[in-house]
Amino acid sequence: MASSGNSSTRPRVLILGGGFGGVGAAQKLEDADADVVLVDRHDYHTFQPLLYQLATGLLEQTAVGHSLRDLVGHQDNTVVHQGTVSAVDLDKREARFDDLEPITYDYLVFGLGAQVNFFGTEGAPEHAFPMYTLPHATNLKDHLVERWEAADHDPSLIDDGALNVVIVGGGPTGVETAGAIAELYRGELVKDYPEVSQDQARVVLVEAGPELFMMFKPKLREYATKALTDRTVEIKTGTAVSAVSPTRVTLKSGEEIKAHTLVWGAGLQGNPVGQSLGLDLERGNRIGVDPDLSLPGHPEVYVVGDVAAIVDPESKQVLPQLGSVALQSGEHVGETITRRIAGKKTKPFAYKDKGTMATIGRGAACVQMLRGRTMTGKKAQVAWGAVHLALLPTNEDRAKAIVDWTGATLTHQRAGRFTVEQS
Ligand SMILES: Cc1cc2nc3c(=O)[nH]c(=O)nc-3n(C[C@H](O)[C@H](O)[C@H](O)COP(=O)(O)OP(=O)(O)OC[C@H]3O[C@@H](n4cnc5c(N)ncnc54)[C@H](O)[C@@H]3O)c2cc1C
Repeated sequence: MASSGNSSTRPRVLILGGGFGGVGAAQKLEDADADVVLVDRHDYHTFQPLLYQLATGLLEQTAVGHSLRDLVGHQDNTVVHQGTVSAVDLDKREARFDDLEPITYDYLVFGLGAQVNFFGTEGAPEHAFPMYTLPHATNLKDHLVERWEAADHDPSLIDDGALNVVIVGGGPTGVETAGAIAELYRGELVKDYPEVSQDQARVVLVEAGPELFMMFKPKLREYATKALTDRTVEIKTGTAVSAVSPTRVTLKSGEEIKAHTLVWGAGLQGNPVGQSLGLDLERGNRIGVDPDLSLPGHPEVYVVGDVAAIVDPESKQVLPQLGSVALQSGEHVGETITRRIAGKKTKPFAYKDKGTMATIGRGAACVQMLRGRTMTGKKAQVAWGAVHLALLPTNEDRAKAIVDWTGATLTHQRAGRFTVEQS
């Protein structure tokens, strides 16, 4: 159990959250003359961009989650605690937890990320499958496989929509998930269940806006729509989901879809612990920061990653909630605190654009850079792979991902498509 005081004479840097932002900060603090404490509710780092690959059997759990102690345990000045943050008291310079004693800090890095936003949709919290954590991805995979097994035993379930999947959200999360589920369905599961009638297994993508991929240029939107349609994904735009039950999805248009699976990839909101800071929050419950990523009026507090509303000095736009933004902001803050402790000057944060990208399926991806350059097809998939390999936290994870991706490309097999029951 962590103690609240600090008997050491060195400053204590408390990092809340072991995502891209928190881990990036911790790793850059390796040489700081400080005691670094990293707290996360899990004892592992989650690589969210690849969750859909875990959910569709392409990658294994250990390629998507990595022990936090493994990532920073070799740093002599750093300890990791598993704990759930409940609040931060800016005046007392103290974080509170559900399951640990309060921890005081000299510097705080707030990197608790974002969480799913169901926008008040009836039944969604109970019945939808969100895609933000490792358990979410394994639950979805188990549920999909279990529905096919159930249909194999009792074909009447197919008429009731047992094999149908509705995916909510036409952004990268929804599009990537829809493409991957369609490939899993039309590839491996067709072969796995030869006696199950396939023609009633629908994959439906629902987007409330007029088109998919609204953040991308029109030609990328058209490309994504065609790539999904080629993979048999039905696309419904301009309508939202109004209610979900275990076997039915109701759209605002009144249409009811028989489906035992609804995947939610539609919306994010900043971590609710941000509200405990007692500040006015920005759109999506994100926390506004100064150019060096510190909290206005609190130079000892930094906010990084998805929970921060970081304004790009060039475009004047709030940077998107991306792994590369989170990692770079965390690393910047780790360097900044190291320099401050050493009495050196610090710099404002400058984001190096890695592009916004999504992969839709085998050989189909699209990339758009901040300044407008675009790529599609195999070239974009290679760029996507390179950026995501760079984001993975260790060489071991990169090697695992390369082996799994190469295996799947050569054999068109998704080795992880089985379930392990809880004893
Ligand atoms: C399905 C999906 C696909 C994505 N695809 C891409 C992509 O292709 N490319 C890309 O660049 N980005 C992608 N992103 C976005 C990217 O994953 C995020 O921008 C990034 O994870 C944000 O990092 P972070 O450190 O801010 O937050 P997170 O990675 O969310 O980390 C926050 C950490 O805080 C912990 N935490 C939360 N609340 C508490 C609490 N109360 N107490 C203790 N610990 C807590 C969590 O366990 C977590 O470890 C995707 C996101 C999702 C969900």
